[in-house]
Amino acid sequence: AGRGSGPRAGAQGAAAGGRGRALMLELHDLGVALDGRPVLRGLTLSVAAGERVVIAGPSGSGKSTLLRAIAGLSPVQSGEIRLDGRPVQALPPGQRDVAMMFQSYALFPHLSVLENLCFGLRARGMARRDAEDRARAAAHTLDLTPLLARRPRELSGGERQRVALTRALLREPKALLLDEPLSSLDTQLRVRARAEILKAHAGSRAAMLLVTHDQSEAMALADRLGVLHEGRLLQLAPPRTVYAEPANLFVARFLGQPA
Ligand code: ADP
Ligand code: MG
Repeated sequence: AGRGSGPRAGAQGAAAGGRGRALMLELHDLGVALDGRPVLRGLTLSVAAGERVVIAGPSGSGKSTLLRAIAGLSPVQSGEIRLDGRPVQALPPGQRDVAMMFQSYALFPHLSVLENLCFGLRARGMARRDAEDRARAAAHTLDLTPLLARRPRELSGGERQRVALTRALLREPKALLLDEPLSSLDTQLRVRARAEILKAHAGSRAAMLLVTHDQSEAMALADRLGVLHEGRLLQLAPPRTVYAEPANLFVARFLGQPA
């Protein structure tokens, strides 16, 4: 106890989102129903600045709905969502300061990589030269410099993912929401892509919330790992703890252990 104040407090597994760092994303007792059917039930979770929380769960457990609710794209029936201490439920999606990345990276096909990277900054009123300077610096970090003049169709899947991630973080969002970001990549690329997600997010204050059905991906990327089942968060703890001390049989089975 009392050691939660370092910059990697979340990695030490400090409870409730890394003591000593600001909570960037807080969900309290969140309830979402779609078509009258409950999809998320009483979900409580916080993510500290710079922390990576991965929510793993089988298909249909409510992972995408969770991210959509935070982004303002799914209606919320009960509970509260706060970003950087501020309730955001009344805000439209465009004013929430979140960046969401889907499976299909949604780059603008008619724009070059550099223009794609600059787009969000220009839309917020940044001068072209400043936006390009920022974009080039970020591109350098993720080895995208040789790709800046290309169009998205001239990129590999892994390159597209890196461009989309770089673009998402350039806007300095409060939360970075990643929905199965690696699922469209082939197996060989995935391990490298994991490292690139870590590298892109390192040094960012964004609360990262990544959802996946892939247990090994979850273990590799999480400071803390949550397991979602039928809209309920069954456990939330550092990956090693979840693996060594699963809260129940479902968690144990989902992580592929003999029960
Ligand atoms: P996951 O991303 O974990 O696969 P989803 O969040 O997409 O799960 O879906 C959770 C549940 O909500 C599923 O049962 C799904 O059928 C249902 N659902 C998702 N979107 C809608 C919608 N727009 N209308 C009604 N039900 C939906
Ligand atoms: Mg989904």
